Order: sequence, then structure tokens, then C-alpha cells
Amino acid sequence: MSEVVNVAEIFGKNVFNETVMRERLPKSVFKKLKRTIEDGTELDPSIADVVAHAMKDWAIERGATHYTHWFQPLTGTTAEKHDSFISAPDSEGKVIMEFSGKELIKGEPDASSFPSGGLRATFEARGYTAWDCTSPAFLREDAVGVTLCIPTAFCSYKGEALDQKTPLLRSMQAIDKQALRILRLFGNTTSKRVVPSVGPEQEYFIVDRAKYLQRKDLIYAGRTLFGAMPPKGQELEDHYFGAIRERIGAYMNEVNQELWKLGVTAKTQHNEVAPAQHELAPIYDQANLAVDHNQIVMETLKKVAGRHGLTCLLHEKPFAGVNGSGKHNNWSLTSNDGINLLNPGDTPHENIQFLLVLGCIMKAIDTHADLLRESASDVGNDHRLGANEAPPAIISIFVGEQLEDVIHQLCDTGAATHSKKGGKLSTGVATLPDLDKDATDRNRTSPFAFTGNKFEFRMVGSSDSIAPANVVLNTIVAEAFKEAADELEQAEDFDMAVHDMIKKLLSEHQRIIFNGNGYSSEWVEEAEKRGLPNIRSMVDAIPSLVTDKAVKLYETFGVFTKAELESRVEVEYEAYAKAINIEARTMIDMAGKQIIPAVIKYTSILADSLSKVKAACPDADVSVQAELLTETSALLAEMKTALAALQSITEESLKISDACECAHAYHEKVVPAMAALRAPADKLEMIVDKELWPFPSYGDLIFEV
Ligand code: ADP
Ligand code: MG
Repeated sequence: MSEVVNVAEIFGKNVFNETVMRERLPKSVFKKLKRTIEDGTELDPSIADVVAHAMKDWAIERGATHYTHWFQPLTGTTAEKHDSFISAPDSEGKVIMEFSGKELIKGEPDASSFPSGGLRATFEARGYTAWDCTSPAFLREDAVGVTLCIPTAFCSYKGEALDQKTPLLRSMQAIDKQALRILRLFGNTTSKRVVPSVGPEQEYFIVDRAKYLQRKDLIYAGRTLFGAMPPKGQELEDHYFGAIRERIGAYMNEVNQELWKLGVTAKTQHNEVAPAQHELAPIYDQANLAVDHNQIVMETLKKVAGRHGLTCLLHEKPFAGVNGSGKHNNWSLTSNDGINLLNPGDTPHENIQFLLVLGCIMKAIDTHADLLRESASDVGNDHRLGANEAPPAIISIFVGEQLEDVIHQLCDTGAATHSKKGGKLSTGVATLPDLDKDATDRNRTSPFAFTGNKFEFRMVGSSDSIAPANVVLNTIVAEAFKEAADELEQAEDFDMAVHDMIKKLLSEHQRIIFNGNGYSSEWVEEAEKRGLPNIRSMVDAIPSLVTDKAVKLYETFGVFTKAELESRVEVEYEAYAKAINIEARTMIDMAGKQIIPAVIKYTSILADSLSKVKAACPDADVSVQAELLTETSALLAEMKTALAALQSITEESLKISDACECAHAYHEKVVPAMAALRAPADKLEMIVDKELWPFPSYGDLIFEV
């Protein structure tokens, strides 16, 4: 049994949070900092030295030797460069521990090695990290020692965003301003801020580390590039919510404790649909904290796995044929005084403010479906979105029965008079309590589903940052709010104007609502009739970032400049081509050095057996050996041809200098060539002696953790 943990005691222990700041900062400094954090006012640089000093003392008392500006470049993960606190030795050779306000506020990593999509030539290497005081500093304890991590934004010399956080913070300012205008229209004079609340549910796979290390594809690409299905997959559905095995339980236990120490509210954990797949969800928080915390969650899941002889796979599709992993992004809008703008209340038909917000969200999603789709595209997610898996690449909104009924009433008659009720759930068992039913069932197939008082965007990939999806949601909804507020603030008769506007929004954007089965082929046809975009791959999604519509949107709200958007397009094409290039080269390596030699060994064993049996007993039936030999040799030849084809097509694609063209070549030529190599290899895995197969099988990986 593991030792008893007092969660309340360890929670936030390694965070320079409000309690610590109140204790350690002079009152006036604390007040100023809190104003910046809570009200979004500009940071007063004169307080930086005092804060830095307090932060350093606090960190050193807890054993910290280094600090780092922790940032989120466009690589999808986080970056850090550690500096120790020591000063240059004095004349007696002694050092003191130093950390200035300047060092807290600004860092200057050499930016030339981070993706910038042409925003900066390599000779213009300057990049800055700037302290984001809205996300608290924390101490990371691991083999490196104790490190003070300071969340920062990362910009170029000219102030262009080179990271995920800068546009996110900009988009939060945009939605704050526009959402407040909506609240004011309804007579609210007290709320001071509106922030997006985000709760991401993180899915992941766990495999045995020793087996993982035997597979080059898992090591280099994070997913299997070969592998035949085991006799059992996920068809029995016995893993979902199943009892958690001891080894995994011990792992989850440590993950939770590490996260709690860092102030991450790890809340739910369970087994997911696929064997070896699990989920972890924190309690929702402000979007920028949720983004940072999700990065910490991913880091922690990976790090702690190693300590248990396990490896955590965050890839969207580590195994073909079983479910992949995603990250459901739950999103709502909350005011500083606790109003959730997405709360319909018990009688949504009477809740005019909610109906206006709903109408604006429908308009935003309908107008910018392409951007939302793009925000969820990453290389791994191509195996899920638009492929044969959840959710489909078509953006639609699920609102549920109750709201759909209200929308119909409004669109058909111009007035909504009632809201459907949930009623009681009766189980037919006298001893069980009757439960209150929600007014709406769930729909697991919708990419953007209303779930009571929030929307759940289900497309984000498991390994991806949730920042881009939230940048899109914040900005597109800010735009719809702005357009509504511009008109309503001028209206002579507000009640009449808002009523007309709601009706107009709901009816004009009704096509985006779909409550049926999003996985069915009928929906694909229906969506096409409705004119909804169906963007099937990452390379096809990328151009939506720089349409006139997108540039206008982002420039209006100061979230991205055109140059920043163009740079992101470049970064994404490059990321795609590089990732597929690594996958292709890994396949070439495994096929050429591992699979083909193993198969040749097997064919010579068959041939040996054939001739030996014949020599010993000329009348013996050797048809099995002969047939296997023929079949194996044919597949071997097919593999060799496919290998040669993949080699040459990869070499050709690598030479293309234009990023867009290059990415398309990888998508349209290399990916199919990879599939052509995999097919005979997977068939061979089913034939060849298991002892000879050069790496662990799917069965070994997902059923024997
Ligand atoms: P599910 O049943 O959908 O799997 P989970 O409990 O796994 O639900 O995750 C739901 C996530 O949504 C959690 O992170 C939760 O904190 C978050 N959440 C709940 N309410 C809100 C809200 N109003 N806004 C944003 N996120 C929310
Ligand atoms: Mg969940």
C-alpha cells in the first residue's frame, strides 16, 4: 500500500501563489501585482525587483538552484533554458544567490533555433521571453534538482509572437472587452472582467518501457508504423471505465501527487475505450492557466511513467485499428463575479441574454468553421479527423433537444413560450432513488457539443497545445459579440432589437446545428448540402489561417498580424513535412534492417525444413512448408518493391524547397507509399514465427502492461 497523502497539505506546495505572495510581498506591491493579475491592468515594472527577490528567497528555501523562463514555442511543447542563481565569485571566492527584477521580467534566449516561419532570419536571432504574471511561477522537482519555472510569452525582436501564449493572452483581452459590452447591455454594471474558462480532458496510452524501447517507430515517431491487429481489440468494450490495474494505479497516484504539488487540479481519472488507454481531467480554470497546466500535465505524465518502468504515449494514433487519443476542450465564459454567460438556467426560452450569447456563438462557429477545424489539426490528428474515427472533420454544433426546441419556437413563430424539462429518471427498482434527469441527453459524435453550461470542443489532438483552439474560440466569439453590441448599443427599443437579432442569428445560422449521429455517412452528404466545409487533412486546413476573412478577424482584434499568420502557415507546413519525413525514414530503417532480415531468416528455415523433410522421407507431405514459402516470398518481394518506392519518393519530396508544395508531396505521395509498405509487413507478421519477429507486437504492447 502506498503511504497516506494529505492532499490539502500538498496542494499548491510548489506554487508561488496568492497565499505565498500575500505573505512575502509588501502590501503595496502585492496589491499592484494582484491588480494586474485580476483586472488585466499593465504591469508596473518598478515592483519587479521586489517580486523577484521574494520569489528567489522562497525558491531557495525549497532547495532551488536554478530558474528558467518557461515558454511555449511553436513546436507544440515547452522550452526552457536554466540559469543558476549564483553570482560571480567575490575576491574571497564566495558566491551569493542573485535574481533581479530584470531577470524576472525579461529573458533573451537565442531564438534562431525555434520555428518562426520566416518572421526572423537566422542572423536576426534575437527573441525575448516576457514574464506572464497571470500564470504563477512554480518549482519543478526532478533529477535536474529544484528549478524555479517562470511562465513567459515568447516574442521576436519586433514584438511578433513566436509562441502559443502571446496570441492566447491577446484573444483573452478581446473576448473580455466584447463580452463585457454584452453584459452591460443587459444592465450589468458590476462585473469587471469576463474570462474564458477551460477544462481539457487529456487522453493517453501507457505501455511497458522495456517493450517501447524495442520499437524504433515508438521512439522516433511516437506511434507504431507497423503492426498487425491482435486477436482481441477493443470490441468487448471491457476496458472503458474498467477497474484500474495496480501498476497503472501506482503510476496515476504519483502523477496526481506531482500535479497537486504544482497546483494542477487533477480531478478525474479512468480507463478509456482502447486497451492501455486512459484519461485525466483537471477542474476547469482560466484559459491561460488551463493551457499552462495542460502542458504540465503532459510533461508529468511522461516523466512519471519513466519512474514506473512505463512510457506514456501522447500521440493521437499510436496504434492503427484501436481508438486514438484526443483532448476535449471544455469552454465557457465566466465573469469575475461568477456569472457563466453560457448558463441557460431552468427556462432558457426566457433567458434573453443566454439566447443572444448562443446566437452569437452559432454565428461565430458557422462563419469560422474552417479556423476552428484548423486549430485542431496536427500531424497525428490526421489519423482521426476525417479518417475513420471520431470526431468527423465537419464542424457542427450539438445543442440538444431542449435548446433545439427553443430555437425552433423562435425561428418558426418568432416567440419561445416554453422549455422542455428533464423530468425524473425511474429505474424500476424500489430501493434506488429517482434521479433528476438533465433536459438533454449527451451526443458523443459531435465535434462541438453544448453540455449544460459549456461547449465541449472535441477535435483537439492529445499531443497538441490547447492554445490555438482557445485563441480561435475567444476571437471568433469576440467578433460576433462586437457585431451584436455595435448594433444593440444604438437601438432605440432594446427589447425589440434584441428579440429581432436573436431570431435572425438563430435562423441564419441554423445550418450549423446537428443533433444526429456525426459518424454516419448520411451526415457527410447532408453537411455538403448545407454547404458546411469538410476539411479532411492538416495540409488542406492550413490555408484557412490566411484567408481575407481570417486576416480581417485577427487584425481587428489585435490577435495576429498578417505577417504572424503567414509565419504560422509556414511553420505548420514545415512541421508536417518534417514529421512525415521522420516517419518514412523510420519505416525504411525498420523494414530494411529488421523486418526483411527476419523474414529472410524465416524463409530459409522453411526452405531448410522443406529439403530436410524431403531427404528424410521422400513421400512426406511438405505442402504446408511449400505454400508458406511461396506466400512469404511473394510478400517479401512486395515489401522490397514498396521499400524502394518509399525511399525514392521520400528523397524526391525532401528536395522540394517550397514549404506548401513540400508538405503536399509528403501528404499525397509519401503517406500512401508508407501504407503500401506497411500492408505486406503486417501480413508477414501474422505468418512469421513470433520468436523471429524483431519487435513486440500490438498484443504485447497494449494487453501486457
Ligand atoms: P466528461 O463526462 O465529459 O468526460 P469530465 O469530468 O471528464 O467530463 O471533464 C469535464 C471537464 O469540463 C472538466 O475539466 C471540468 O472541470 C470542465 N468543466 C466543467 N464545467 C465547466 C465550465 N463551465 N467551463 C469550462 N469547463 C468546465
Ligand atoms: Mg472525461
